[in-house]
Amino acid sequence: MKINPAISLVQYNTFGLSVAHKGLIHIHNEDHIYEVLTEGLAPIKILGGGSNILLTGDLDCYLLHNQIKGINIVDEDEHSTLVEVGAGEPWHQLVLWSLSHDLGGIENLSLIPGSVGAAPMQNIGAYGVEQEACFHSLRAIHLETGVRTVFYKDDCQFGYRESIFKHESKDQYFITHVCYLLHKKPHVLHLDYGAIRAVLEAKAIPYPTIQDVSTAVIDIRTSKLPDPKVVGNAGSFFKNPVISLDHFEKLKSTYQGIPSYPVSTTEVKVPAGWLIESAGYKGMKRGHAGVHKDQALVLVNHGGATGKEIYALAMDIKCQVVTQFGIDISPEVNVW
Ligand code: FAD
Ligand code: NAP
Repeated sequence: MKINPAISLVQYNTFGLSVAHKGLIHIHNEDHIYEVLTEGLAPIKILGGGSNILLTGDLDCYLLHNQIKGINIVDEDEHSTLVEVGAGEPWHQLVLWSLSHDLGGIENLSLIPGSVGAAPMQNIGAYGVEQEACFHSLRAIHLETGVRTVFYKDDCQFGYRESIFKHESKDQYFITHVCYLLHKKPHVLHLDYGAIRAVLEAKAIPYPTIQDVSTAVIDIRTSKLPDPKVVGNAGSFFKNPVISLDHFEKLKSTYQGIPSYPVSTTEVKVPAGWLIESAGYKGMKRGHAGVHKDQALVLVNHGGATGKEIYALAMDIKCQVVTQFGIDISPEVNVW
């Protein structure tokens, strides 16, 4: 087991930040995790693709970089195929694999950065689909006891960008494998979100395949979202808030154009990007940190920013949004 305390974290997080740490350890299999536990290395944090973390200060912990790979079919019937995926596989690699095997269900989640193991953490979602739609179960190792545990869907408490792993089981488990139940054809496609249908129509595709949907999503994402390889970011910094219908109606009398999406008979979701843009932050640059010029929900490192700078900007935005709209927005990104 190699422990590397000197290695820079710049390549290990999509904000492109670096802070001191006790040592980075690559984990290729479950035995490597047990070695760490047997050696008594603590405290530890688990690192996937680093696309949902903000490093704000030195870390007094070991970092376990998940590299557990493999995509294997473990069961199938005439309707579906159950695949078990090593948690260190890049998520988009799994999407590509599913397309190449003509298995549907996760095509709307194309091009989301990060690892498969982190997908259940915040129940990744995009274009009207969340990973829980195909989630079957996951295998994890408890970091204090070393006990192997299986979590089925009902155990995970999935919600909008939420799971049990962000709450009562936070930082307690190393997710090693995730199983997804993918659909054999025919499969109901989700096209009524964002620009998917418009893109397919523009390409004159009346009967799209899962490959067509994936390509449309990739086209939309690459045209709208900043590439972390070019400008550091962690995607949406904040979650979209859910507010009461009463609160929304009051806001609407002042802000006629405020968008909303129904959540229940009494609540609506308001896009946090709209709130941040309306608060005047879109495209703002402060020092080396900033708000993306096309998507106000994405905070960026223009080069040389510290995590503290980015976090301070995020907290200013949060304060301004609560003052202006009475809505308390919460970070989606994990702040370390
Ligand atoms: P990391 O950032 O490495 O870790 C995130 C958290 O999960 C940490 O707390 C970490 O300790 C924990 N963790 C990671 N792996 C494990 C494991 N194996 N076991 C236990 N805990 C673990 N998210 C969406 O939901 N939808 C999107 O459309 C989307 N688009 C994005 C676009 C861009 C450009 C970027 C940069 C990010 C986007 N994200 C999106 C956010 C991010 O990609 C996801 O949250 C992703 O799942 C994070 O994966 P990761 O491996 O990088 O996790
Ligand atoms: P968008 O299409 O411009 O839409 C803005 C916001 O409105 C989104 O956050 C989305 O909420 C919501 N929305 C749009 N159409 C909706 C509908 N029909 N029903 C319910 N809500 C709707 O957003 P975007 O920034 O280009 O992102 C597109 C998709 O990719 C979104 O699903 C977004 O969540 C996802 N994405 C996520 C991240 C991340 O880091 N989490 C980063 C980039 C993109 P939802 O976010 O709830 O879908």
